[in-house]
Amino acid sequence: MPLGIGVDLGGTNARAAVVDTDTGEIVAAHKEPLREREPSRVVAVVQHAIAEASAAAGIAAGAVGAVGVGVAGQCLGRTGVVLNAPNLGWRDVAIGELLRDALGLPVRVANDLSVAAWGEKRFGAAKGLDDVVLVFVGSGVGSGLILDGRLYDGAQGVAGEFGHVKVCPIRPETAVRRCGCGDWGCLEAYTSGVNVAARVREEIAAGARTAIFERVGGDLGRVNASLVDDAYRAGDAYARALWAEVGELLGTAIANLVTILNPARLILGGGVLLGSPALGDLVRRAFDEKVSKSAVKQLSIEHAWLGDDAGVIGAAVLP
Ligand SMILES: [Zn+2]
Repeated sequence: MPLGIGVDLGGTNARAAVVDTDTGEIVAAHKEPLREREPSRVVAVVQHAIAEASAAAGIAAGAVGAVGVGVAGQCLGRTGVVLNAPNLGWRDVAIGELLRDALGLPVRVANDLSVAAWGEKRFGAAKGLDDVVLVFVGSGVGSGLILDGRLYDGAQGVAGEFGHVKVCPIRPETAVRRCGCGDWGCLEAYTSGVNVAARVREEIAAGARTAIFERVGGDLGRVNASLVDDAYRAGDAYARALWAEVGELLGTAIANLVTILNPARLILGGGVLLGSPALGDLVRRAFDEKVSKSAVKQLSIEHAWLGDDAGVIGAAVLP
């Protein structure tokens, strides 16, 4: 069977997998924590993860034609340069070149959600469809776009940065939240798991009263989106107000994306969106209210099929 190697490079782990590129099956995989984020250290970790996965699959690490890498960050087209990866603390890192030199193989780097979208297109919820929008809300927020059957990345290769569309007016009198990308007022700054948890912690510290505080036994480090969702369903007024805002922002932004692109399928994924049923309902309500009715006549909405494996599978078959 034809094999490829895919690497999922997140903020905390690197996972490499040997993948059957005909079926999308993972033959073997190896995950390793990133203890340091310095690019040369990350390269060493990725190299080791690939060696372990290859050994487990019974192949030589150089036996595949190329290596695909999905990075949680903004990537500059096919250059292999990561422009901005807040979780890794990277700006303008030529990770493709560094990996190519270390591995002695061609390396293709792309944004993790572009990679996930391509994985879904080849083997998952987007199979057989030419126009698909994938939206993930997890620790970050992002999208992957398949347009006309191709992975769409724009003129320079930076399209689809859905988490960084602005959703808040920037005026001196408003308390605009800052995003990990450095900008102010991004969708991600208001709706990602990391940012929601940070906001709840800040607001509790500033005196907000909510059952979330009891739910974490006073340990604010344990605050997460799924606890907000539990509190919402138990009728907590703070959680209800917060989720109303987050649901409205996400639902409206997704509706705008669908209104512009008119996909055949919208694929939703990510731990926050799939792990928070009450928030999911609010997003759906705002989406239905705001989306252009003509853009949804033939739209189907599905959850991502490949889950956490989308990154390595999509990376192994990147075009
Ligand atoms: Zn941003």
